[in-house]
Amino acid sequence: MKIAVVGSGYVGLVTGPCLAEKGNDVVCADVDASKIERLSKGHVPIYEPGLEEIVREQTSRGHLRFTTDVEGAIRDSEVTFITVGTPPKPGGGADLTYVENVADLFADVIASDGKVRVLVTKSTVPPGTTLSLRERIRKRADNDAFGIANNPEFLKEGAAVTDFRKPDRVVLGIDNLVVKRMLVDLYEPFVRSGGKIIVTDPTSSEFGKYASNVMLASRITLMNQLALVAGSVGADIDEVRDIVGSDKRIGPTFLYPGPGYGGSCFGKDVEALRYLAKQKGADLSILDAVDSFNNHHRLWPVRKLEQQLGTDMSPRKIAVWGAAFKPKTDDVRESPAIYVVEALLKNGALVNVYDPEKKTYEHLAAELNARPWIDGLKEKSAMGKWPTYHDKLLESVVSADALLILTDWDEFKSPDFQKMRSTMKIPLIIDARNLYRLDLMKKEGFRYISLGRKQVDAII
Ligand code: NAD
Repeated sequence: MKIAVVGSGYVGLVTGPCLAEKGNDVVCADVDASKIERLSKGHVPIYEPGLEEIVREQTSRGHLRFTTDVEGAIRDSEVTFITVGTPPKPGGGADLTYVENVADLFADVIASDGKVRVLVTKSTVPPGTTLSLRERIRKRADNDAFGIANNPEFLKEGAAVTDFRKPDRVVLGIDNLVVKRMLVDLYEPFVRSGGKIIVTDPTSSEFGKYASNVMLASRITLMNQLALVAGSVGADIDEVRDIVGSDKRIGPTFLYPGPGYGGSCFGKDVEALRYLAKQKGADLSILDAVDSFNNHHRLWPVRKLEQQLGTDMSPRKIAVWGAAFKPKTDDVRESPAIYVVEALLKNGALVNVYDPEKKTYEHLAAELNARPWIDGLKEKSAMGKWPTYHDKLLESVVSADALLILTDWDEFKSPDFQKMRSTMKIPLIIDARNLYRLDLMKKEGFRYISLGRKQVDAII
């Protein structure tokens, strides 16, 4: 099938190459010329395990190419996927400008040559969007000869290629039999060895994506709240997780406490659904609690550190492990690290950041630069306090007064504790991911504060 994927970000850059792997003829389009230039030379601008190999292979086989000519890409294709961003609008709700821009181009193309094509919204869009785009295109093109569908994406960054190749489910929101046949044929190779295709109407499909994301965000939030209570009543949240997760009705995944959800989707989708519910007069107040707790909770590591060292952290040296919001990605959008590093800098600390994926450093620096407080801080700070980004894990803890752990990269799981103990000024670890056994921390000589477990102190 000839396919255009419009928007070459985290979703488009996985969708296009993975569809190309099945023998489709795919063109990935984006308005960002520098991104397309890099992609055309085989350089993938995001880090996602396995992706660069697929891009290079499919490009060399001739199944995949990249272009800034969005209109041309749509013109040459039978199916166009929209994978552009749907960021939050300042007043609430999802900003559909980018999606509408692509839909308008699609309308112009079908108006100009009258060939039948299919448009698929893969970006996360509010319920009703796909059907209202159909009306928009009909009016603009003065033409009915096109199909439209919604096909929300459920990939997880860090495991996006695996998720796309072997999805739990593919959801197709369609109200037309011909379009249904085309898209079922396109996706069948992905579910041959498990997974299923769910065909429904476009609005249920769109709503299903939001419902899944807010369900996950709520589960993370509830687990984080339970962890705080577990800590205060003397229970151990890891034991509690085992008890809760062994119940088949609940299941064991997504039950790990942490420093709050981050990334570009959960916060934005919680916000968009809250807005939609309010507009409709429906009660989704549970999401108000999810959102406000998550905003508060991402500073849990800083609050714990302040209890240990006080709020004036000048000239303390604090190591932070994990810049992205989770392992195996370079995506720092809404990462708890942004807020943690910002708070540490405001407290006067010198901050050492380490993340195994070095592309995160550039992105974190850009996020910090964009924070409103940063100019004031620069002026106030004679030392020009900015984080120092490290190449090696243990370099980041040299002379450190504390280590904060924000993500669960494998590299963090068994570091050389003896070296750390001897090089840190204060052997204090605040671990928002509960990576280490309490008895081990005691033996290795640390004060160890984790989430929803007892604080342990070194055996002296
Ligand atoms: P992104 O910001 O990484 O990428 C969007 C891309 O679209 C950018 O490269 C931008 O230059 C391009 N673009 C914008 N307007 C364009 C236009 N008119 N023509 C061509 N290109 C254009 O976004 P993303 O993270 O890939 O997310 C895209 C959508 O998918 C969002 O709605 C998001 O909610 C949803 N989604 C994201 C994920 C995820 O893990 N990132 C998972 C599932 C769903």
